[in-house]
Amino acid sequence: MEVVVFEDGMEYSDLCEKYWELDDLGKFKWTVSALAKEYSVPYHHIHKIVKANSIAYSSRIGCDTCQEPYEYDSRNDYNSVPLNIHWICDDCRDIMKSMEERAKREMLQILWDDSAKRAYSLEDLSVRHAVFLMALIRYSGSEDLQYLNAFRENKTDVFSPDLDYSGEIIVELARKNIIAVSPETSLDSVRYNEDGSLSRNFGMVRWALPLNPQEGGPISFTENLERKLNTQDFLTESCKEVISLCKEISLRECIAYLKFTLNEHQLSFSPGEKTNLVLNKALEHFSVSQVCSFIWRASKDAVAFYVRSGTQKRHAANTVVGNIDKQIERALANSWQVPSFKRRYEMPQSEVSRVLFNTLLRTDDGGFNQLLKDILPEPA
Ligand SMILES: [Zn+2]
Repeated sequence: MEVVVFEDGMEYSDLCEKYWELDDLGKFKWTVSALAKEYSVPYHHIHKIVKANSIAYSSRIGCDTCQEPYEYDSRNDYNSVPLNIHWICDDCRDIMKSMEERAKREMLQILWDDSAKRAYSLEDLSVRHAVFLMALIRYSGSEDLQYLNAFRENKTDVFSPDLDYSGEIIVELARKNIIAVSPETSLDSVRYNEDGSLSRNFGMVRWALPLNPQEGGPISFTENLERKLNTQDFLTESCKEVISLCKEISLRECIAYLKFTLNEHQLSFSPGEKTNLVLNKALEHFSVSQVCSFIWRASKDAVAFYVRSGTQKRHAANTVVGNIDKQIERALANSWQVPSFKRRYEMPQSEVSRVLFNTLLRTDDGGFNQLLKDILPEPA
């Protein structure tokens, strides 16, 4: 060990030397109380004085990169740091960090340039992607519309009926190169892998639109996209696709409500194909708000069944879909007036639903309140 005493700490030079002095067995030669007594300094000041006036360098541990000797912080540190430790000094760490940051930025630029080579125009967008993109611009667009903020930054609005669905939409838009990670995204949102690839956290990255320069930039593109959705060009161009998107969103609304209701009763449930089948059947005859009343009743029954029979929660939750199916059949057979539910405060209309049902189809949250077949255009 080498102890270096600072120039203006010379009056404590002896104390510092003795504090770090080792005996033949590598143990500290003097106890702190002995030093306190010898130098007439309070016991609890010793460490502070030594630290302020000297540095103790290890003669055996060095930085893995530049071999700079390890600095001991305290006697505890000396006793606990193993001699074979792999240690990198602060300077080397800073250099490595800035190299990694530069590598990330370069990689982000390469990825962006690649996306820009496959730039798109408004006319390339299907109605499905036009709706999703418009909703995402409304949800995450920066004030000057030059980029889309990280998805997670918006804590107040709802993007799609269901969080899982939102994730699927983002992945779909990114795979289709409709959105691409902005080269200016925060470096915390991406991880540079040693194999040269870059992992991106899709909830945390900033997105930008790799637009064809002929679109005249994101502002003019967004105006044209909004206009195209408003003029209902899509309805004449791609009626079938509009219908299928309406059905998809309505199904997601029901699944979101089902998950929410069961969750409220602490019943966990993962909807699968059977659930989709039953809910799709329901949506042919009832509005989402009516299907919600079936879901509400079935969830209530499942809880009662759980309490009454002492069965497992999973088993109780699994009765819900069959129950909904039976309710639909009875309601249809008896021509019942099925009550309509209001949207829950916790589940307001999402941006995706707003673009599709309000902007494109000109209803007031029709996707929730109205029967799909009443608002859907006739397929050409
Ligand atoms: Zn170093």
